[in-house]
Amino acid sequence: MNAGSPTLRPRWVCRSWPAARFGTTVPGMVHAYPETAAEGTCPVCRAPAPPLAFVKNGYPMHRCPTCELVYSARPPQGEKLEALYSAQYFTDGGAGYPDYIADERTHRRQARSYLRKISKLDAKPGSVLDVGCATGFFLDEARKAGWTVSGCELSEYAQRFAERELGLDVVRAGFLDPHFVPRPESFDLITMFNVLEHVPDPTGVESKLANLVRPGGHLVIETWDPHSLFARMLGPKWPTYAPPTVLYCFTKRTLTHLFDPERWTLVSYRPAAKWISIDHGLSLLEYEARKRPPLARLLRAVRRSWLGRIDRTAPSTRSLVYPGAFGAKNGGAWADFIPRPARNTRWTWNTKSD
Ligand SMILES: [Zn+2]
Repeated sequence: MNAGSPTLRPRWVCRSWPAARFGTTVPGMVHAYPETAAEGTCPVCRAPAPPLAFVKNGYPMHRCPTCELVYSARPPQGEKLEALYSAQYFTDGGAGYPDYIADERTHRRQARSYLRKISKLDAKPGSVLDVGCATGFFLDEARKAGWTVSGCELSEYAQRFAERELGLDVVRAGFLDPHFVPRPESFDLITMFNVLEHVPDPTGVESKLANLVRPGGHLVIETWDPHSLFARMLGPKWPTYAPPTVLYCFTKRTLTHLFDPERWTLVSYRPAAKWISIDHGLSLLEYEARKRPPLARLLRAVRRSWLGRIDRTAPSTRSLVYPGAFGAKNGGAWADFIPRPARNTRWTWNTKSD
């Protein structure tokens, strides 16, 4: 690795991360991107030519030395982006979900956890927009708690479930779609749970959010943090580095760059746990082990056994905390922001998950 180029290697982990060794599924792609290659400017802070950090799934991943953003320089757009979130993303495992709807109990449990955190802010139930709401389990739980709920979701599969099965007001749209135009300052709370890292234009998201949060309102964001212990231990093998679906990974510094201090104020920033099903956890491990067929087959066999589904069938069984079992600061964090008084708006963001 080029000694002069910034890398993601933590100072205390004695491993090397040659860019050409990791995560390549497209034959011949690796050699097209020398370690010092750079493409354009940083999508968040506009620093010129952030260097290549590693290659994952055949996609060159860059790390900005200024704002610490880790990103894929070639985000999919339009129909290509929509195609990534077809029914297969929610049912076929891989970097997605093995069966999102079958894990309803786990998703609802996570949703209630979010609502408990939100209740500790001074946010009383009002109007909430969940950006990238998937099948709407969070919105359904929020509705039960007294919120007036709405959402937007790019995936037709997920949006139809939210609308038809749960009767929710969910627009089929990406947040930045021109036809998705909510009234300015119409929400007391906007939530983005593990969504920001999937959207091709994070600065466009920040601009649109600033116009929608009502004065005194909140913005809650959960995303993954490449500075977390889990990410540092695994390096490029960290499952969250998953282009072309996960395009960006934000640290606290990145989010501070992205959310203009002239418009937003950080209230708090702390680790957060996330519940996932046993099947989902095993599915992610199987995906990461795909280059080791015997191990992948073993994981698949466990998934398909009673053990892989016990948390779906036995009500008293708990799901996994991902990746909380590995330590306190290993995946992400929760952070709260309020808007600058001049703007009289307020937001909360939640980054990292552990
Ligand atoms: Zn940057």
